Amino acid sequence: MLERLELFPQVIEINHQARRRFGCSVYLVFHKSDWLLIDIGYEDTVDEIIEMIRQMDFPLGNCRYLVASHADVDHIQGFHRAKQLLPNAQVVGHPEAAQLLKDNDRLMTYAEIPAQNISIDLPEIIIEKKVKEGDVLEIGELKLEVWHTPGHTHGQLAFRLGDLLFSGDNLFRDGCVGNIDAHHGSNIPDFIRSLTRIRDSDVAWLLPSHGPVFRKDKEMIQKTIDRLTGYQHMADFGTCAVDWPLLDDWEDELVAGIDPKSVTI
Ligand SMILES: [Zn+2]
Repeated sequence: MLERLELFPQVIEINHQARRRFGCSVYLVFHKSDWLLIDIGYEDTVDEIIEMIRQMDFPLGNCRYLVASHADVDHIQGFHRAKQLLPNAQVVGHPEAAQLLKDNDRLMTYAEIPAQNISIDLPEIIIEKKVKEGDVLEIGELKLEVWHTPGHTHGQLAFRLGDLLFSGDNLFRDGCVGNIDAHHGSNIPDFIRSLTRIRDSDVAWLLPSHGPVFRKDKEMIQKTIDRLTGYQHMADFGTCAVDWPLLDDWEDELVAGIDPKSVTI
């Protein structure tokens, strides 16, 4: 029997429990003997994680849900193996994530990044229960409210449990956000809306999918929002930017016949 290290009442995070880093955050939420997991990480750590869970005295037959925060391979690759060990669990995710996994979309899930010679397995994963904004996942008497928080990717979910928000790849403790990448369906205006919603909510704690949990801090989130607001107008972000004011200035200067050497920047 392994002593349970509850990070919050009814919530265990597997890296925290093991006191070492496996990969992405893996949250176990339980009520009495029923439990669920949010994300699992890569396949090669699944057996060890599930053995730890068994040693913490959670009946493997009572895992109700395997929840995908989104369809990125570093979060969900292990669900295929986890389903073999936890046959009563239903795999849960947003319809957008379900479609990507159904199509075995290797680009949108980051299984394949050809320009960087990254190519890893994406085993068959079927999302059996599709959830969207406003749905509720019940685990015993606990209710997890589903938030659709697009930005990093279209199918990004977050889950609210009381004053906790399992916040996925929306925001990390250092103020970074999940990768902004056109090939991943990232959308900066959506991202800003999702972060604004989190900023204005009354949740007290954010439980991200990477790195440590942290207290929600409006000022810190505002800094991130301001940064992303700037990104919308920067060429650095390519087709994820909404405009590039420099080109408008250039056009005005061309039409006005201004010598660019005379412009102070
Ligand atoms: Zn991620």
